[in-house]
Amino acid sequence: MDRRKILKSIALSGTLPFAGFNAVANVSGAQDGVLTEPSRKINVVNESDVIVCGGGPAGIAAAISAARQGAKTTLIEMYGCLGGIWTTGLLSFIIDYEQKPGIMRELAARLEKSDAQHTAKIYDAELMKYTLDQMCLEAGVNIRLHTRIVGAYKDSRNKLEHIVTESFSGREAWKAKQFIDTTGNGELSALAGCEYEVGEPGTGKTQPMSLMGLLTGLDEKELIANSLMMEKGLVKPGSKELFYEEIKRAGMEASYTKPTLFGVRPGLVAMMANHQYEVSAMDANQITKATLEARAEINQMIEGLRTLGGIWKNVRMVATGSQIGIREGRRIKGHYMVSKEDLIKGASFEDAVCKVDFPVDIHSLVKKDGGGYGRGGVQAQPYEIPLRSLIAKDVDGLMMAGRCISGDFFAHASYRVTGNAVAMGEAAGMVSARAALNKTLAQKIKYTG
Ligand SMILES: Cc1cc2nc3c(=O)[nH]c(=O)nc-3n(C[C@H](O)[C@H](O)[C@H](O)COP(=O)(O)OP(=O)(O)OC[C@H]3O[C@@H](n4cnc5c(N)ncnc54)[C@H](O)[C@@H]3O)c2cc1C
Repeated sequence: MDRRKILKSIALSGTLPFAGFNAVANVSGAQDGVLTEPSRKINVVNESDVIVCGGGPAGIAAAISAARQGAKTTLIEMYGCLGGIWTTGLLSFIIDYEQKPGIMRELAARLEKSDAQHTAKIYDAELMKYTLDQMCLEAGVNIRLHTRIVGAYKDSRNKLEHIVTESFSGREAWKAKQFIDTTGNGELSALAGCEYEVGEPGTGKTQPMSLMGLLTGLDEKELIANSLMMEKGLVKPGSKELFYEEIKRAGMEASYTKPTLFGVRPGLVAMMANHQYEVSAMDANQITKATLEARAEINQMIEGLRTLGGIWKNVRMVATGSQIGIREGRRIKGHYMVSKEDLIKGASFEDAVCKVDFPVDIHSLVKKDGGGYGRGGVQAQPYEIPLRSLIAKDVDGLMMAGRCISGDFFAHASYRVTGNAVAMGEAAGMVSARAALNKTLAQKIKYTG
């Protein structure tokens, strides 16, 4: 069918005039290696009170919370499931969630009801996907998967008004009264023109990336008997060092010197055993190279371990994450920046949205730093995160939640874990919903929890 006929048949079938791929002019010329794209009209396919961008731990909580406030809420995620690092990243281990109320507690309780895992702490990724779908649908969240946010447009008063996405449906525009950036890497905020920081002060170096793997063929009782694990799949003091030695015995030097096994349930074990150093979360070539290298490394580890026989004789890698685990991306500037000093003094705030009880956890930025992790010389006390660090400084109508909130390098290394991401998301969802429903800005809302 030629292009004119296709356009006619689409028009007859009632498809919107600017939808999808048909709006793209197909005559172009690149000059000096630069292609100028023609401007085009894009349908605004959705108007919501709140649009949450990114369906990871922070995003699902933000969406559920906003919808429960009565806001018309849309959640946009680029992969085919919700959960972010929990699911596409196969993380399998939730940190700093035990004392969290609200959505984190509800989610843990739902996971605990199933025997897919010993406890919610080391959860089953497939059950997590399904549970997150259910919780979002029950709250009335409009979910759009397989859709990447690629553009952001403000109105004349510097308020974010539209975003643009790419998906199986082509290029689409979406309008909302309030947006929440839960992309982990702060992609929406960067597209909207917000100032941000990345990496260690002075060097800009970021924490390494790791690719998670799921293993079968291991007997949990044998792992426990060999001190490679504790009851309920938990990590035993000294077990990381022992596993490192086992990988060495299999002929490999693991790039992460504290490789870890987490027992999800008898017969299913999650593994984190590699580091990819000096990879930028904003460079697709670097992430691709890191993913290929990581997948090769951890598969070769398992092949090598199997040749050792004994407790390893049946071990198999059954899945690696569809997305390599990115520890660190952009930290978007907010109305307050959580700092190392806040951690040291155990800061509390009137507008606190989350209490963090996890130390600074900086994985070696370069291999020669040892390949493990440390505290960066910071002795953190339990501290609070204020709402102001979730509100973008440079653009109105935009909040952040999860690892892209406003904080310094050291603070990020502590609050980045997923129990905190959920608590932040829940607060951002509530405040954005109230701001949208009251036709005001997030900074005007008094957070009451
Ligand atoms: C290897 C590794 C091990 C870790 N270990 C632990 C641990 O054991 N326990 C723990 O609690 N935490 C751990 N962390 C930290 C924690 O996983 C992250 O900091 C956490 O994921 C933060 O949640 P988030 O929702 O901010 O981001 P993410 O989980 O990264 O979620 C972001 C979501 O946004 C989506 N997205 C991104 N860009 C776009 C876009 N442009 N358009 C649409 N969607 C988009 C992504 O697909 C993803 O679903 C670990 C992290 C890594 C990398």
